[in-house]
Amino acid sequence: MQVLKGKSGLAITFVLKCFACPYRVEFSSSNFHEETQIATINTRFVYAMRSIAKGADAGRMFCGIMNLPQPPTSFSPYGKRILNAAKLVYYRIQFKVL
Ligand SMILES: [Zn+2]
Repeated sequence: MQVLKGKSGLAITFVLKCFACPYRVEFSSSNFHEETQIATINTRFVYAMRSIAKGADAGRMFCGIMNLPQPPTSFSPYGKRILNAAKLVYYRIQFKVL
């Protein structure tokens, strides 16, 4: 039997329990950034919405139409993470070029 344990934006945590024995396993619908509880699907969702010049309102509407869980309420923490990753790529490219 699969039981919904919780969700964080688009990431859902499931618990699989057996009725006959104590077997129990938890798994998430998303990977997480290394050593954090930040689901990569939320970062990817914000990145995708920003890539098509859309924000949180459009993201909520998209998820509603697609019958998906609602995305993170605030895009800003993810925006900072995306900005840091873009800066890292930029500096690495610059370093190789120079
Ligand atoms: Zn069992």
